[in-house]
This record gives sequence, structure tokens and C-alpha cells, in this order.
Amino acid sequence: MKPAPFGYKKARSLAEAVALLGENPDARLLAGGQSLIATLNMRLSAPSLLIDINGISGLDGIAHKGGALEIGALTRHAQAERSDLIARHAPLIARAMPHIGHAAIRNRGTLGGSISFADPAAELPACLLALDGEVDATGPQGPRTIHARDFFKGLFETALGPQDVLTAIRVPAATPATRVGFAELARRHGDYAIVGLAASARADGKGLADVRLAYFGVGATPLRAKKAEAALASGNVDAAVAALDLDPQDDVQASAAVKKHLAGVLLRRVAKQLMEPRP
Ligand SMILES: Cc1cc2nc3c(=O)[nH]c(=O)nc-3n(C[C@H](O)[C@H](O)[C@H](O)COP(=O)(O)OP(=O)(O)OC[C@H]3O[C@@H](n4cnc5c(N)ncnc54)[C@H](O)[C@@H]3O)c2cc1C
Repeated sequence: MKPAPFGYKKARSLAEAVALLGENPDARLLAGGQSLIATLNMRLSAPSLLIDINGISGLDGIAHKGGALEIGALTRHAQAERSDLIARHAPLIARAMPHIGHAAIRNRGTLGGSISFADPAAELPACLLALDGEVDATGPQGPRTIHARDFFKGLFETALGPQDVLTAIRVPAATPATRVGFAELARRHGDYAIVGLAASARADGKGLADVRLAYFGVGATPLRAKKAEAALASGNVDAAVAALDLDPQDDVQASAAVKKHLAGVLLRRVAKQLMEPRP
């Protein structure tokens, strides 16, 4: 199918993008286009105007500052996948990147687009939640920061307002005690996950502290499994699997029962990764 007719404007600054959104309430921002153009082609969305943000400078940097790693919204998945800074300071994101779509999609798709789109089966929103990260956005009232736990509101719904542009995400930089784990089950490599798990923890003696398990593909948003986190911190993987406090629904990929079973399988795999010292 072909999209419904739409207008196109290339914004040259954040202020211009915010103003254009204000003047055109049904406009959509265009970043990598890897999700947006598909929804247009399937006529799931018919905005009157696309506001291309690819010409706005300063939105694609990766920087280590103040104990955090900041990644600009227009950073392409492929750029993140090859970034030494991300490998060193955000190893969970580095582990997740190769699972996102295929190389052609990663060449164009952006981190900001993925977080803004908030697909419930996407990898990056879960990584942001597992890492206790933050999102920077700019709207008509200027810039603001939104904590990951407050950002994902519902199915494809975030805390971004209609005139907000996501400008960057920020995660605490890994330390020698940081442990991360990532696993997902998909029908084919590169497909959206049936169920996935992004996790972080801090090595504490022979055990783990601050365990954060963020599942994706099991609800409308990425979800923490808090009871399982507590059990895993006490070192008992069987108890963590038994404590999995998830309530997935049947979807086109799998039944709720299958998803719950797979969530346990992933937890065992990720628990092993969390217990391995960092290379
Ligand atoms: C075949 C296929 C397989 C895929 N598989 C996966 C997968 O396994 N995992 C996965 O996570 N993703 C997958 N994707 C999606 C891909 O990761 C996209 O790149 C991503 O979801 C959206 O990023 P984008 O830059 O392309 O955004 P776009 O498509 O340009 O935009 C998506 C939405 O976000 C909004 N938006 C974009 N940038 C901003 C911003 N800075 N501020 C505010 N709003 C913004 C747009 O207005 C639009 O509503 C797949 C895509 C395809 C086509």
C-alpha cells in the first residue's frame, strides 16, 4: 500500500521543530522513518505533515560526562552498535543493539525514535528502564528531563507531549562492579521479541545488589519483575523464577502461558550473565 498524501518540512533547529508541531497538531516527527513510514504505508497513521528532524545539528552525539553516558536522539542504531563509548560505559545497550531488526534498519533507525515510539516488544525501552536512565525532551516550555520509570505510560504511549522532541537519553556509566544481562527469544533473529529481558545489577561480594529486571514483550510497556529481583539478589535463581510477577496476555506471537514459561527461561540465562565478572 502507499501512504495517504502528506506535506514535508525539514526543521533546521529544535525551536523550529517545536513551533511546527504547535502549528500542525496532527504532524509527526520523522527521524529514521523505520517505524513511521511503515505505519504510513499501512495507513495506520495519516499525518498531514512530516517534520524531518535529521537536519538539526547536535542531536547525534555520544558523550561520557558526570558519571553518565548521554546518547543523542539522532544516534543511529548502527552507530551505537559500533561505539566504543557505549561498549565501555553502557554494556547493556551494546549487548541489545544486534537484536534490533536487521542491518538495513539499524543503519537508519535512531535511538530517539525507538524510545519515542515505545513499542512494547522493543529492546531499548527495556534497557533504559533496567539502567534507571533518563530522557531529555524539549517542548514549548523548554527542556526537561523525565525519569525512565515515569516515561513509558501505556501501549505506544509515553510522557512526551504533542509538541515535545526527545533530544537525548542518559544512563549511569558502568563501574567495575556493574553487571548486565540481556536475552530475548524471537522467531527469527531480528524479529521483534516474543519475550525479552534486559537486566542490570551491582556485584556485592559474592552476590548481587540493586538487581533490576526489565522485561519486554509481556505487557503494554517494559515491566520490572520486582519480586524476582529480590529473590535473585538473595542468590536463589529457582526462587526468582518462581517469584516472577508478570501477567502477560496472549498475542499474535504466543499465548500468555508460553510467554510466562519463556520469561523463566530467559531469567535463568540472564542470571548466569549477571553472575559473570565483567571482561
Ligand atoms: C522490519 C523491521 C524490523 C524491526 N525490528 C525491530 C526490533 O526487533 N526491535 C526494535 O526495537 N525495533 C525494531 N524496528 C524498529 C526500528 O528500531 C526503528 O528504528 C525504531 O522503532 C524507530 O526509530 P526511527 O528513528 O526509525 O523512528 P521513526 O520511524 O522516524 O519515528 C517513530 C515514531 O517516533 C517519533 N519520533 C521519532 N524521533 C522522535 C524524537 N526525537 N522525539 C519525539 N518523537 C520522535 C515519530 O514521530 C514517530 O511517531 C524494526 C523496524 C522494521 C521496519
